Amino acid sequence: MDFEFTEEQQRFRQEVRDFCLSTPRYRLVDPTEESFFSPQYYAEVAARGWLGLHWPTEYGGQGRTWVETVILNEEMGYRRAPLGDLYYQTFGLFGDFCCAHGTEQQKKQYLPRIASGKIRFARGFTEPEAGYDLTAIQTYARPDGGDYIINGPKRFITGANVAEFVLLMARTNRDTPRGKGLSFFIVDMRSPGISVTPVWSIALRTNDLFFDDVRVPADNMIGEKDRALEYLEDDPHLRYETSLGFMLGGARRTFERLVLFAREDNSRCCLGERPEVRQKLADLAIEIEALRLMTYRVAWMRSNGLTTRYEVYLEKLLEAEVDQRLTRAATDMLGLPAQLGLGAQYAPMRGMLSILASASLISFLPGSPEVLRNGIARTVLDLAT
Ligand SMILES: Cc1cc2nc3c(=O)[nH]c(=O)nc-3n(C[C@H](O)[C@H](O)[C@H](O)COP(=O)(O)OP(=O)(O)OC[C@H]3O[C@@H](n4cnc5c(N)ncnc54)[C@H](O)[C@@H]3O)c2cc1C
Repeated sequence: MDFEFTEEQQRFRQEVRDFCLSTPRYRLVDPTEESFFSPQYYAEVAARGWLGLHWPTEYGGQGRTWVETVILNEEMGYRRAPLGDLYYQTFGLFGDFCCAHGTEQQKKQYLPRIASGKIRFARGFTEPEAGYDLTAIQTYARPDGGDYIINGPKRFITGANVAEFVLLMARTNRDTPRGKGLSFFIVDMRSPGISVTPVWSIALRTNDLFFDDVRVPADNMIGEKDRALEYLEDDPHLRYETSLGFMLGGARRTFERLVLFAREDNSRCCLGERPEVRQKLADLAIEIEALRLMTYRVAWMRSNGLTTRYEVYLEKLLEAEVDQRLTRAATDMLGLPAQLGLGAQYAPMRGMLSILASASLISFLPGSPEVLRNGIARTVLDLAT
């Protein structure tokens, strides 16, 4: 096995690193609108052609591989690049789904505009009565001439207040078994009949949506009718939105800062000499390395056209667990001051930890540990659920 990056890939990593170090974050948008997003920064990333790196060139991508995408994300995550809440949904969900299952017309219509940073997509799956169990979705799309009329509620739709479009999952067939009869639609957020109400979580703003007789052209159905859940089951990358390296980069950075703190801090009986701290940090080093290898493996497999199923479950599980364990370990090590926010006088690690602690809550959102372990049991152990 050869785990080395090619020379070209190493040059690309350096190019991204240089960009991150030399590009100011500019102004972040009001956090009540979206967390950690800078429109100017996003535009500069787009101007370099880095949005949709592994998409074909005729659709605005660069025809590179998933490995380059992971390199980009890892470096961006390491530098905490302000790419906003919609980054994963736009690229890891809609963009990759459109590349794989969109019509020629849909690919031409949406992918170049995403790659140039002009439009972003929210994910419209969850409902008050349909959490992880998407088979319970009730929002209904009724055919009407050449259109569909959509009615029903959606819950926790992050970024719906700023996205230009939402990838909506709605029921198109009430006569099939629960796991079938769901379809995807591209819905313009400016369509008459959509209402958006803020829902505040500890980590970020999300939204309740209500669709009241929203008219959507039939051409906006993406993928085959009634097959939405099959697509997600076949490719868990779409279902669970792994960050493909972004969280890995962030975790590596936090971990390095923590180790430095343990080495240099003398105010707490030499943190780095305490056995429980050393054990915890060693455990984290192992877990981050496992995540790093798994992330590269998924990228390499996808670059080579191989199917990734259990690998994605594992990557997502590691990603989310590393994120949470890191935050927990840091909070234990730094004690109560870890809760102090950015800019507070006595905040350790410049107050970054309080932000990471709330952000780590979102790492499980598209799939909880139980749901991901169920996926592994089903795909690797062949245990029915
Ligand atoms: C801040 C935030 C932002 C979000 N953003 C979006 C978004 O942008 N778009 C979107 O569509 N959704 C979004 N969601 C929804 C999210 O993706 C989850 O689908 C949703 O939170 C899960 O629903 P629930 O919380 O009602 O949990 P439930 O589905 O009710 O699950 C409750 C508990 O039961 C467990 N459980 C569920 N099923 C099983 C099972 N089969 N086996 C074992 N245990 C199980 C779960 O692990 C969990 O602990 C967001 C949620 C939050 C909190």
